Amino acid sequence: TRQPFLYRGMDSRGKMKGDTIAAISTAYGEAGIGVIRISGEEARDIALRVFVPAAKERAAHKEGPSASLIPRYMHYGHICDPLDGRVLDEALCVYMPGPHSYTGEDVVEIQCHSSLMSLREILALLLRCGAEPAERGEFTKRAFLNGRLDLAQAEAVMDLISARSSAGYGLALSQMQGSLSSRISAIRAELLEELVSMSVNMDYPDEDIEEVMYDDLRKRLSAINDELLELLASAEEGKIMREGVKIALIGRPNVGKSSLLNRFLREERSIVTDIPGTTRDTVEESASLRGISVSFVDTAGIRHSEDRVEMLGIERSKAAMDSADLVLLILDGSSEPGPEDEELLSLCRGRRRIIVINKSDAGLVTEPENGLYDGSPAAVISASTGDGMEELEDAIEGVLLGEDFRRSEDVLLSNTRHIELVRRAQGEIAQAVEQTELAAALDFIEINVHAAFDLLGEITGETAGDEIINEVFARFCLGK
Ligand code: GDP
Repeated sequence: TRQPFLYRGMDSRGKMKGDTIAAISTAYGEAGIGVIRISGEEARDIALRVFVPAAKERAAHKEGPSASLIPRYMHYGHICDPLDGRVLDEALCVYMPGPHSYTGEDVVEIQCHSSLMSLREILALLLRCGAEPAERGEFTKRAFLNGRLDLAQAEAVMDLISARSSAGYGLALSQMQGSLSSRISAIRAELLEELVSMSVNMDYPDEDIEEVMYDDLRKRLSAINDELLELLASAEEGKIMREGVKIALIGRPNVGKSSLLNRFLREERSIVTDIPGTTRDTVEESASLRGISVSFVDTAGIRHSEDRVEMLGIERSKAAMDSADLVLLILDGSSEPGPEDEELLSLCRGRRRIIVINKSDAGLVTEPENGLYDGSPAAVISASTGDGMEELEDAIEGVLLGEDFRRSEDVLLSNTRHIELVRRAQGEIAQAVEQTELAAALDFIEINVHAAFDLLGEITGETAGDEIINEVFARFCLGK
């Protein structure tokens, strides 16, 4: 048995608990394996207070009673309470010394059984032995502070964890590997060059070169402006890939909304998840459609009511449409559209919508003209047989992403924070370009260029203050 003086507050070396943190890094629940991560100067010491390598193994390595952990070696053993020797679980333990670890600090990972009890007990023991409970995202925050990754990459880590579609996953992966960061850094390098040459010119103004200089400066700033505009143009697609879309299914009762929804959920053979909405009693059905995560907001279920408005679910439809990126207005193609259909058609006029003419198998009475219905793209389908679903998905993809989507090799902006910063930076550069046209004093132009330089630096974190950094990591999950 180990000695109790190692408990926190009783440290014989009089050393105060350091900033070594611990957390359960896997999802907290019943599963085969759960991982607890420890990071910080004392990670190894703390782990050794609770982890007892198997005796056999100790002998094999000719270790004394104060067994050590070999870097990057999976040790098998037990987690024991040093106070009374009580065994908490069987475990594997790996020690990864800094700086070549995820956080850049000394890291220990303990793999135990993912039991609600053992995970909680082991974490509690680690905290008693000197570790601090990690805050949300603190491991990744430390990785960022230690220069292991930049802020945009750290945000991509979180995107990767929360990705629900192959599109979002691919995008997060590429940003995690630095695709966006290197693009931003390249633009910042160009801006820095301009800042340097402007400051040289301000220090040694030379009348003769002024005109040429403005001309060149304007050209270069315009080129940077174009780059920023190009990035911004990718934002819509990037956001869709990252966050997915909401599609509202609108239509009078019995047109086939539920059947279509089921068809989507079934056809996609994909992860179908019930995502709890913001209020506790709303559940949105979600599936992936051609790699994009889609939440379907369904207004089905409104059937029998004396009140026609209520039966149509006008209020519900409105609310669903307001929250959606795209409206699918469903008509029963086997009958003439009635006044209720007209009412719903006018309700969603002006919105991004596709008219879905359902029940093609039952004989079509209502047909679109040249692929359009009431001025909007239309698709003819049968929710019963699945006919026309390909075309409907084509139409959805086209409406949401435009015709030239899937610039998958391109760097895409997808995070709202990044989009906002690029937008502001672009505004500054556009202003700087304008100033060069007016041959304004370089000092003025410099202010805009400098602002853009700093704004872009907030994306990668170079110019981000503590507040921004804390805000970003507060959105992370525990244990990451
Ligand atoms: P909702 O009230 O809009 O959700 O409509 P439902 O999905 O419940 O469908 C109403 C009725 O229409 C059901 O009896 C379905 O079987 C039927 N239905 C739905 N889609 C089709 C279709 O494509 N063809 C045919 N023939 N019937 C359909």
